[in-house]
Amino acid sequence: MTATATRVLVLNSGSSSVKYQLLDMRDGARLAVGLVERIGEETSRLAHTPLATGGDKRETEGPIADHEAALKAVAAELSADGLGLDSPELAAIGHRVVHGGLKFTEPTVIDDAVLQEIERLVPVAPLHNPANLTGIRTARALRPDLPQVAVFDTAFHTTMPEYAARYAIDVETADAHRIRRYGFHGTSHAYVSRKTAELLGKDPSEVNVIVLHLGNGASASAVAGGRCVDTSMGLTPLEGLVMGTRSGDIDPAVTFHLKRVAGMSEDDVDVLLNKKSGLVGLCGDNDMREIRRRIDEGDERARLAFDIYIHRLKKYIGAYTAVLGRVDAVAFTAGVGENAAPVRAAALAGLEEMGLAVDADLNTVRSGEPRLISPEDARVAAAVVPTDEELEIAQQTYALVSA
Ligand code: AMP
Repeated sequence: MTATATRVLVLNSGSSSVKYQLLDMRDGARLAVGLVERIGEETSRLAHTPLATGGDKRETEGPIADHEAALKAVAAELSADGLGLDSPELAAIGHRVVHGGLKFTEPTVIDDAVLQEIERLVPVAPLHNPANLTGIRTARALRPDLPQVAVFDTAFHTTMPEYAARYAIDVETADAHRIRRYGFHGTSHAYVSRKTAELLGKDPSEVNVIVLHLGNGASASAVAGGRCVDTSMGLTPLEGLVMGTRSGDIDPAVTFHLKRVAGMSEDDVDVLLNKKSGLVGLCGDNDMREIRRRIDEGDERARLAFDIYIHRLKKYIGAYTAVLGRVDAVAFTAGVGENAAPVRAAALAGLEEMGLAVDADLNTVRSGEPRLISPEDARVAAAVVPTDEELEIAQQTYALVSA
């Protein structure tokens, strides 16, 4: 890496999409952001915004066959603005990798052995790790000389004590198949818990925070002195909170029942719980804006879906208060957490005995900045802390390659 190399490209490769951001690590500025969608279809779409030049968003539609073609198209877009992958200013590429198992507790420079280990974890992350691997392999082929770093969604949760991470099932079976609670959204929980400490004017080691990452996927974590001690997602991102399309916690016997009594296949059950459950299963909509609109019109199904969502959230706030013993702040983040004031108000309503309260005026302030929404005299701070997983990935990547 040359002394002038201050840029990091962050890649988030999904099964049919690639999201990317190019950042300048001197100040964290976004130089370009974009998204390739529907890879492998006739109607692939690339949307690229060259923020560095102040240029308009450029959108192109047409077939993009695979991840290699997608990354090449991204590289061409970046080159058109003088930000190409061949630039000496590019220090590294940071990849979001969903599952790092127990081995990857830190961001890791990718070599062949690391690739093999990510591959070994495919059975516990069949939907995510293969796409992440394809993104990494493609990027390495394009710039074999450039450091590439894997930043794992599970890493922040590897500090969970064994009694929080283990399921109460037969130990030999669990160990043979690596069945345990890993947790996800770790990059967001790490970033938001640190930012919450900053908002309180304290060092992360001094504060206990409950982070509620409420996006289309949703998870809660209990963070004690900067270390995760419990989180709501498990072996897969299906466990825990009610989400946009996932059920969250459910009696596992429901799955036997669906197979034995409803005659569903393994795949049917998988699709039901991951794609047709949660808010969408309960009321047909997974967008909280639409659900709130329907509630305002008196829609009973939307109301019940909202109430189930909030009830689960409250249970986790209560559970993590007990796990932490002392809570300094509850932080709301991600699409719903950052934008849906009624969700925040409802989640903390009636928890005054636990020191939690929401100031109605502060709660409705719209801002992209971390902010408090609790009254000044509240024992526990309530906060809205916008997450920034790309910045966190870029910072972790840059810290590793410039060390
Ligand atoms: P994420 O996965 O973090 O991008 O969050 C996406 C979700 O955030 C959407 O499905 C919506 O439910 C929710 N969302 C985004 N904007 C708003 C808003 N202004 N009000 C309520 N919910 C929102």
